[in-house]
Amino acid sequence: MTDEGEAEATKRDTSRRYLVPVARLELPGEPDLVHLSLCQWLPRVEEWATGLALCGRSAEQGALPEDMAVTCPECEAYRPKYQAVLDRELA
Ligand SMILES: [Zn+2]
Repeated sequence: MTDEGEAEATKRDTSRRYLVPVARLELPGEPDLVHLSLCQWLPRVEEWATGLALCGRSAEQGALPEDMAVTCPECEAYRPKYQAVLDRELA
Protein backbone atom coordinates (compact mmCIF):
# COMPACT_ATOMS: atom_id res chain seq x y z
CA MET A 1 0.00 0.00 0.00
CA THR A 2 2.87 2.35 0.79
CA ASP A 3 4.44 1.56 -2.56
CA GLU A 4 1.20 2.34 -4.34
CA GLY A 5 0.99 5.61 -2.49
CA GLU A 6 4.46 6.58 -3.57
CA ALA A 7 3.79 5.59 -7.15
CA GLU A 8 0.70 7.75 -7.03
CA ALA A 9 2.71 10.65 -5.64
CA THR A 10 5.32 10.46 -8.36
CA LYS A 11 2.59 10.80 -10.96
CA ARG A 12 1.61 14.11 -9.47
CA ASP A 13 2.59 17.34 -11.14
CA THR A 14 4.78 19.21 -8.66
CA SER A 15 3.58 22.56 -9.95
CA ARG A 16 0.03 21.78 -8.89
CA ARG A 17 -1.85 21.44 -5.61
CA TYR A 18 -4.13 18.55 -4.80
CA LEU A 19 -6.93 17.77 -2.40
CA VAL A 20 -6.01 14.72 -0.35
CA PRO A 21 -7.44 12.85 2.65
CA VAL A 22 -5.52 13.47 5.88
CA ALA A 23 -5.68 11.86 9.31
CA ARG A 24 -6.90 13.62 12.42
CA LEU A 25 -4.42 14.50 15.12
CA GLU A 26 -4.00 11.78 17.75
CA LEU A 27 -5.25 13.97 20.55
CA PRO A 28 -7.94 13.33 23.14
CA GLY A 29 -11.19 15.01 22.19
CA GLU A 30 -10.30 15.15 18.52
CA PRO A 31 -13.24 13.78 16.50
CA ASP A 32 -12.44 10.49 14.76
CA LEU A 33 -12.72 11.79 11.21
CA VAL A 34 -10.79 11.71 7.98
CA HIS A 35 -10.27 15.28 6.78
CA LEU A 36 -9.34 16.86 3.49
CA SER A 37 -6.31 19.06 3.04
CA LEU A 38 -4.38 20.73 0.27
CA CYS A 39 -1.21 18.92 -0.68
CA GLN A 40 1.59 20.85 -2.31
CA TRP A 41 5.14 20.17 -3.36
CA LEU A 42 7.85 21.83 -1.30
CA PRO A 43 10.85 22.22 -3.61
CA ARG A 44 13.24 23.05 -0.77
CA VAL A 45 12.71 19.74 1.00
CA GLU A 46 11.53 17.88 -2.12
CA GLU A 47 8.49 16.50 -0.38
CA TRP A 48 4.76 16.74 -0.62
CA ALA A 49 3.32 18.54 2.37
CA THR A 50 -0.19 18.89 3.70
CA GLY A 51 -1.51 21.62 5.96
CA LEU A 52 -4.62 22.38 7.95
CA ALA A 53 -7.76 20.50 7.09
CA LEU A 54 -10.23 22.46 4.95
CA CYS A 55 -12.54 22.67 7.98
CA GLY A 56 -9.81 24.50 9.89
CA ARG A 57 -8.69 21.68 12.17
CA SER A 58 -5.07 20.73 12.48
CA ALA A 59 -4.35 17.37 10.89
CA GLU A 60 -1.52 14.87 10.73
CA GLN A 61 1.15 15.71 8.18
CA GLY A 62 1.06 13.56 5.07
CA ALA A 63 -1.63 12.38 2.68
CA LEU A 64 -3.61 9.22 3.31
CA PRO A 65 -4.22 6.83 0.41
CA GLU A 66 -6.20 8.56 -2.34
CA ASP A 67 -9.17 6.17 -2.02
CA MET A 68 -9.61 6.82 1.70
CA ALA A 69 -13.13 8.08 2.37
CA VAL A 70 -13.32 11.59 3.79
CA THR A 71 -15.70 11.46 6.75
CA CYS A 72 -15.54 15.06 7.97
CA PRO A 73 -18.76 16.71 6.76
CA GLU A 74 -17.26 20.21 6.99
CA CYS A 75 -14.30 19.26 4.82
CA GLU A 76 -16.67 17.70 2.30
CA ALA A 77 -18.75 20.87 2.34
CA TYR A 78 -15.66 22.93 1.44
CA ARG A 79 -14.44 20.50 -1.20
CA PRO A 80 -16.32 21.97 -4.22
CA LYS A 81 -15.06 25.46 -3.41
CA TYR A 82 -11.44 24.34 -3.21
CA GLN A 83 -11.80 22.09 -6.21
CA ALA A 84 -13.04 25.06 -8.23
CA VAL A 85 -9.96 27.05 -7.20
CA LEU A 86 -7.65 24.19 -8.15
CA ASP A 87 -9.41 23.77 -11.48
CA ARG A 88 -8.88 27.46 -12.18
CA GLU A 89 -5.15 27.07 -11.43
CA LEU A 90 -5.07 24.41 -14.13
CA ALA A 91 -6.66 26.60 -16.77
ZN1 LIG B 1 -12.40 18.35 8.46
